[in-house]
Amino acid sequence: MSVFNHEAFAGHEQVVFCHDAISGLKAIIAVHSTALGPAAGGCRMWSYASDEEALRDALRLSRGMSYKNAMAGLELGGGKAVIIGDAGKDKSEALFRSFGRFVEGLSGKYITAEDVGISVSDMEIVAQETDHVGGLNSGQAASGDPSPFTARGTFNGIRAAVRHRLGKQDVRGLVVAVQGLGHVGWHLCEELHRAGAKLIVADINDDITRKAVSAFGATAVSCDEILFCDADVVAPCALGAIMNEQSIPRIKARIVAGAANNQLSSASDGDLLRLQKILYAPDYVINAGGIINVAGEIIGRYDRTLVDSKVASIHDVLLDIFIRADREGRATSDVADSMAQEKILQARQRQMKGTGAGRTVKHVA
Ligand code: NAD
Repeated sequence: MSVFNHEAFAGHEQVVFCHDAISGLKAIIAVHSTALGPAAGGCRMWSYASDEEALRDALRLSRGMSYKNAMAGLELGGGKAVIIGDAGKDKSEALFRSFGRFVEGLSGKYITAEDVGISVSDMEIVAQETDHVGGLNSGQAASGDPSPFTARGTFNGIRAAVRHRLGKQDVRGLVVAVQGLGHVGWHLCEELHRAGAKLIVADINDDITRKAVSAFGATAVSCDEILFCDADVVAPCALGAIMNEQSIPRIKARIVAGAANNQLSSASDGDLLRLQKILYAPDYVINAGGIINVAGEIIGRYDRTLVDSKVASIHDVLLDIFIRADREGRATSDVADSMAQEKILQARQRQMKGTGAGRTVKHVA
């Protein structure tokens, strides 16, 4: 299996293949960059079809975390871990303790947290072996559930997109189609409803869809229709790769702005959206509210006022991207990538001149 020549390899600093025969742990920790600070990013547990698929996921997700943290103005680099296994069957205390020892072995260069397939209680086991864990429920700086902050940041991003593309100062009277009513989608609906938007919703879970109809006066549509309905804004809050060659030509909304990670199936889909005159809010910029909230815990100083002001600033960061994309005739996703790369490069240059950026911070649990 090639690493340095892998199509998802993007100058990653370190890739650690972890194996423990006794617990059965097979994991990959990918540290993309520590230029801005310790590489922070969750740990995913998934039944990957092959080691190659797991490596690809770890490389792509860790680079995404570097960009997300850089654009959110956090003193954090980007990393991600994947545990190869079935989250429904293969979890054990021994497995998570073993993973914790590998994280500890990186001495704070990588800080882990929950991601798909991993719960807070799993991370509490990991935390028995290492201090380099975020997203816990207890501890000196515990930050709790990140999803209300992700939803608030997404709401701020939708306001920025509405202002830029529709020339409106708020979402009152606009129709927003929300795909997925889970942790983030539900909180986002609350924010939008409070601000006077009309909601169209879809979720594979019929119970939660019915609840949204009754709580927000939302119109329910099928999961096949939600991206293509008559709406001003489509807010994907469920799955990745939903923006692709098949879906984009069918979208009627002028804005796509939601919390889901990895919304573009491939980089060229950013251009496809632009050519279709759809304003796309780059996912890792609009959905950074959660990591902004966890960041305080990671560095051991949780400051709610600072969190709120950074989550509010997602509005202006996105406006900046939209204006630059228009001016340069580029996809918003492409502009966001360039801005993130610039920030990381500048931090690396400061680090090389010895001005302090990029130090590792010992997490205080
Ligand atoms: P979640 O699992 O709580 O919610 C996802 C919801 O989507 C569920 O209700 C599920 O039933 C629904 N769903 C699944 N497939 C669907 C489909 N085909 N059509 C419609 N609905 C479908 O997850 P979450 O924490 O709310 O995260 C949502 C998205 O936001 C994910 O892509 C996640 O990676 C991203 N995200 C979340 C956070 C956070 O703070 N939780 C932070 C950043 C990004």
